[in-house]
This record gives sequence, structure tokens and C-alpha cells, in this order.
Amino acid sequence: MTDSSPTPAELVAAVPGLAPYLRPATLLHPYAATPEPTASRIGGPALWPADEPWPHCTAGHLDDDYQDVSAADRAIWEGIDRALHERARAGGDPHVLTPEEAAERRRIMDGAGSLDLINWRLHRKVAERPAAGTAVVPLAHIRAEDAPHLPWPEGTDRLQVLWCPNDHDDLPGQRYYYGPNVELHWQRAADLSAVTPPAPRRSDEYYLPTPCALHPEQILDLPDQDELPGELHDAAEEFAQRHGLEYHRALSCAEGWKLGGWPSWHSTDLVPIDCGCGARMVHLLTVDSGGDPDVSVGRFGELHVFVCPVDLAHPVGLDLQ
Ligand SMILES: [Zn+2]
Ligand SMILES: [Zn+2]
Repeated sequence: MTDSSPTPAELVAAVPGLAPYLRPATLLHPYAATPEPTASRIGGPALWPADEPWPHCTAGHLDDDYQDVSAADRAIWEGIDRALHERARAGGDPHVLTPEEAAERRRIMDGAGSLDLINWRLHRKVAERPAAGTAVVPLAHIRAEDAPHLPWPEGTDRLQVLWCPNDHDDLPGQRYYYGPNVELHWQRAADLSAVTPPAPRRSDEYYLPTPCALHPEQILDLPDQDELPGELHDAAEEFAQRHGLEYHRALSCAEGWKLGGWPSWHSTDLVPIDCGCGARMVHLLTVDSGGDPDVSVGRFGELHVFVCPVDLAHPVGLDLQ
């Protein structure tokens, strides 16, 4: 974008029907630094009420399970590969299995997620046994003055986002979700003191953020086209194109670590995130992949955390893009 690029507010001035969709947001702009203990940050030093235990995640965790393929099954698999190769040389499709070959391969795979053809091992994710909890880690610490538009409960001035740095595939209330377990804690700075949390018993490296300080930037954000009536999106896109832009990202769904505003639905199209109480949930936080915090969510994508507009105590909604 150049300096003369229009802002979402200028788009709304030109297309007043978009006004109800304009939402405040804070772009966090994290950068690697040793954060001040009292400043907004990603990762870094932990603060917690002295009289409360550090939270643990007790949701089901998954372990990697590896199983060797027998010599007999390996010979069958390789035999099918040779048959495919010979049929391809005779002009056939090198990817089409006969029904018998397909059935043999399904039998050998036995429901596993993948087969390592170098070491001849099947890989699958299985429930950890025995199931055991693990300490969560600090993901973000936000002061109210850096994101005043968030729905701060009366008397609170700190938001702490903690997450369990492991994958979960059956978190209660989450549909189609496979990733870290996220908890929000709305707290008072006066109640917090420096603590050394227990190290997580288990973790995936790419869910452990490098400590970052923030350059919070207040912006206004507009929604993904999927959340707009067709005629409003058409008008927004026409405005964007007059300025040599695309509506998505240039004028909506601002990218990067973000509080408030709107999520982008670029990989799945709109998936309504509804609370168990029936309310449509509201975007609270986008966790981005790469950059200085050096975390990776989804397939190097974005994790969106949603809250219930009726009651912040209702469980968060999670979505990966
Ligand atoms: Zn967990
Ligand atoms: Zn709710």
C-alpha cells in the first residue's frame, strides 16, 4: 500500500452501508525483545495471582505412534508399485489401482495417517496413555490501555492468553479443530505478581513463542466478504479496484497478530462460530504464524480465538485458517 491508499474509514464514507461493520482493532506488531514485566507482550515473564495455582490443561493429548510394516506386507506394497509401473509403461494411468490392489493397501495402512516408505513405518496419532495434564504457557499479556475496545469486564485491566502447547483433536465445543488449547483470563494488575510457572510436561516446539514486545496500533477493520451482503461487497470491491486494491486484506481483515476486528476466512470460507448458549461469537484474537514470536498454527496459517458476547466466561471458540 502507498501513503495515498484509502483506509477502511474512507471506504465507509464512500459506502455508508458498511458503517455497522466497522470494528476497532489493535494490531500488535510483535518484535523480538525482552518484554517489560508490566508491558503488553507475547510470551515472556509470567504474572499470576499469588493465591491461585498455575493452570494446567487436562484435555486429551495425542501421542505419535509408529508401527513397523511386516516384510510380507512390504513385499506386497512393492509388488503393487511394480505393477503400476509396468502398466504405466504400457500407456496406462500410473496412479490407478485395481480394486484388489486398493484393498490390499487399505489393509496394510490399517487406518494409519501416513506410511514412511524409507523406514517402512506406519504413523498415527493416538490418545496419550495414561492421560495426564500439563502446564499451559503464557501466549500473550495485554494491558487494557493497549486495546481499550476489548470487552473488559468491570474492574479488570489485564488480559492473559495462555495456551497448552500441544495438539488436541476433541476439545469440548470445538468443531473441525486440531491445535492448541486456548484459555483467556481477565484479571487485575494489582492482583498479579511474578511467578515461575511449571514447565509443560510436553510441548510442540512451534507452539512455544519467542518473547516479544509490541507496538500496538489502533485501527478500524472491516469483515471478510463472506460476512457482507452481496451488494455491499460489490460496492466495497468497486471502491477498492478504483484505487488499484483488493478489498480483502487491503481494506478488510487486517493481517497479523490482532485483537478485535474481523477474522479472514480465506482458506475455509465462512464457518459460523456459535457459543453453546446459541450466541454468534465475536473475534477476539488472531495468532499469526512466523515473524518474531516464531509460532506456527494450522498449516503456517492463523488461529482465531472467539468470545461469547453474552458472557465472557463461556468457553472460547477456536478456528484455524
Ligand atoms: Zn492440552
Ligand atoms: Zn455464550
